[in-house]
Amino acid sequence: MILEFSMPVPLLDLKLQYHTLKHEIDAALIRVAESQVSILGPEVDALERELEAYLGVKHAIGVSSGTDALLMAMMAYNIGPGDEVIIPTFSFFATAGCVARVGATPVLVDVDHVSYNIDPEAVRKAITPRTKAIIPVHLFGQAADIDAIMAIAAEHNIPVIEDAAQAIGTQTADGRRVGSIGHIGCFSFYPTKNLGAFGDGGLVTTNSDELNVRLRQIRNHGMEPRYYHKIMGGNFRLDAIQGAVLRVKLPHLASWHAARRRNADIYTRLFIEAGLSQAPGHTQFDEHNRILLPAVMNPGGAPDVHIFNQYTIRSAHRDALRAHLQAAGIGSEVYYPVPFHRQECFTQHGFNDADYPVSNCLAATVLSLPIFPELNEEQLREVVATIAEFERTQAASPSECPDCAECGTLV
Ligand SMILES: *Cc1c(COP(=O)(O)O)cnc(C)c1O
Repeated sequence: MILEFSMPVPLLDLKLQYHTLKHEIDAALIRVAESQVSILGPEVDALERELEAYLGVKHAIGVSSGTDALLMAMMAYNIGPGDEVIIPTFSFFATAGCVARVGATPVLVDVDHVSYNIDPEAVRKAITPRTKAIIPVHLFGQAADIDAIMAIAAEHNIPVIEDAAQAIGTQTADGRRVGSIGHIGCFSFYPTKNLGAFGDGGLVTTNSDELNVRLRQIRNHGMEPRYYHKIMGGNFRLDAIQGAVLRVKLPHLASWHAARRRNADIYTRLFIEAGLSQAPGHTQFDEHNRILLPAVMNPGGAPDVHIFNQYTIRSAHRDALRAHLQAAGIGSEVYYPVPFHRQECFTQHGFNDADYPVSNCLAATVLSLPIFPELNEEQLREVVATIAEFERTQAASPSECPDCAECGTLV
């Protein structure tokens, strides 16, 4: 008798990572409990020095979350009402939220269809005399075109704040770590990021001594010395327990990144072997220059060292594919279904949907698959086989993006 066998594959399983490091992590937790230094202190100081060395940046400042890191960057530059900040429309909400929360105007630009990252030429066109910062996002762990953005920003003397929340360790093609290149870098230690804490945590980085002093004051109510408040700040401090846990994990980050890249290579190879996709970055267009999606469009294709916080494919029938995976016990997620220009909380800005064809296409087609380091090849094969099984029931590929009726000409 042949038994129908299907293996559940979760999108992420953090228990596996904890159990491989349980001994060291438990010792670190007890060390903090015994010290009764709960906020900042020697664990956070040590983490900051270790991350400065890892990232190749002069100053690293442990903070309460990636969201607060971005907010602190806005506060450090006194960005407020009447100011504009250029951001991609396709990212996690915090990239836009930090701008709106200080009363400034988010200026949204479209992204590149291969890297899903901010389009430098669109940034150039969006600059006005009111532009006070540019926030490129290194989405899913792949570097944005940071050199092009730095060059455009330098022409106009505008600071660049890197949202590297998903990209701790990502390197440019010539080996620089993202978050060490712009004027300020922002990172997140949210548990699903590649370096995850046991709760919320984040990091701000800078090579400027002046910004370092200012950001450290902002982290603690703008206070210097105690109870004398020089500037506006808040409670943006990192807990000692997070510092201690992150210090145990940091030495393993390189091997986790390598495992994620290995998993990504396996997926990409298996999708090509199954006849479902072509090389990463390969794009076909129809006679109207609209993107034609293969059954599965592989991510990547840029010459950086991608850390694959997410492995995000594109499919013209994404929602049905996701339902099929779910029925087979395979986790997946849509990052992100709604770009900022379509968010209800930004309706007063009156963004024009037709200005963002690539982001609209991504919102309709992206699907992130399990990619965490502890997955084995058998599980990756199961994911690809389940997708192949679904594709056999679908109309022939390549097909138009379901958003294409509205999105117009792409290139
Ligand atoms: C996770 C994330 C943030 C926010 O980080 P938190 O630590 O969750 O506050 C900001 N930007 C991007 C792109 C993110 O993925």
